[in-house]
Amino acid sequence: MINLNKPIQLSQQRLESFLNRINQATVNPEILSTILEEFSITLEEFDQQQQESVTRNNASDSELQHYRELFECTSEAYFVTNLTGEIHTANPAASIMLNISPTYLIGKPLTVFVAESHRKAFRNQLQQVRTSSQSMGWDVQLQPRHREPFPAAIAVSPIRDNHRNLTGLRWLISDISQRQQAEALRQELAEQHELSELKSRFLSTVSHEFRTPLTTILSSSEMLERYSDRLSPERKAVHFQKISQSVDYMTQLLEDILIYSKADAEKLEFNPTVVNLSEFCQTLVEDLHLEAANQERIQFKCNDDNICGNFDPKLLRQILSNLLTNALKYSPNGEPVDFELNREENQAILLIRDRGIGIPANDQVHLFEPFHRAQNTGTINGTGLGLAIVKKAVDLHQGMISVQSEIDIGTTFTVNLPLLNNAKKF
Ligand code: ADP
Repeated sequence: MINLNKPIQLSQQRLESFLNRINQATVNPEILSTILEEFSITLEEFDQQQQESVTRNNASDSELQHYRELFECTSEAYFVTNLTGEIHTANPAASIMLNISPTYLIGKPLTVFVAESHRKAFRNQLQQVRTSSQSMGWDVQLQPRHREPFPAAIAVSPIRDNHRNLTGLRWLISDISQRQQAEALRQELAEQHELSELKSRFLSTVSHEFRTPLTTILSSSEMLERYSDRLSPERKAVHFQKISQSVDYMTQLLEDILIYSKADAEKLEFNPTVVNLSEFCQTLVEDLHLEAANQERIQFKCNDDNICGNFDPKLLRQILSNLLTNALKYSPNGEPVDFELNREENQAILLIRDRGIGIPANDQVHLFEPFHRAQNTGTINGTGLGLAIVKKAVDLHQGMISVQSEIDIGTTFTVNLPLLNNAKKF
């Protein structure tokens, strides 16, 4: 509203001075004409100000009308409540959303339209809005009258008086069921996409990994068949060995696929028993050293001979032999591999450090995904299943695994396993 007091007061003052001067005047026509001129200017100014004020009032009326229309016609529900959430004003969309006539809405606490399971959280949020006096937003399950509950997004902001005191709350509530359905659909599609990608990675890995040993078996058996009479016993032994190695490799691959698919379906058996980890690791290293290719490259260190805990020996072997054989395999120049076992409070810390080819940073984030192989593996064979199995086995022990790696410097895997009897039971 425009304040007209000032121009009116000014005009009054001028009028008074005009009358005074008329009274005092010795009817000098010159003075009289000046006074009349001044008076007419004053009247003109007054008229102009009044016109401006009318224009401004019209503008704010139309603005008000504009907001009223928005409030009435929008599809979003608007409420004004007091600080405890009691409804003072609601727009038609609010009454449609809550399936209740506007007159019944007024005076009701907004909480009664929140699904019972969400009320406690809603009250806590309301309390938070009051104490922080900040605008806030959250999702909630609304319960309209005689209808199914639905998800809604709430945006609430404080209303203040001229002295900045909090006097009420303004609510904007939107139905997000469609948005949530779209999100669920998008997620389902993404999962389907991931599954089909996994299938194609599986098929390409399996066909690729099977082709090499099958070719070896075929060529060695052909040699044995065709040239049996001409081959020396040593050459024959070499071909038989190649065949048996290829069969072993394929069996191992199938075994890995089986273990991974069981783990993925949460069907991996977990049978923990008390294991002396120090002895277990020592034996494993000796077994790995029996394989000629490994040439006693694993240097095992342990700060305690008696680190005992509840572990599944089969899965523990999967974890450690996968990490150790990787460390050997990805150090093609035959560098040694450090294997350390330490106890820290109630945890066993197992560290496997190599000085091999390293893992590119881009691949590190995908390491534990099945069939993922880093770009720098070159001709080193593998399926990308080992680490996925390791991760599942560590999870079953409620442990943690982490990796640090630098290209051409080396890789360190650290596994933390709790020693207390808190592993998951299946
Ligand atoms: P793979 O059968 O290919 O060795 P893994 O699941 O055991 O499969 O490992 C996944 C990928 O992680 C490997 O293909 C390799 O790229 C990378 N990787 C694992 N361990 C190491 C390591 N010690 N040094 C370098 N790269 C490694």
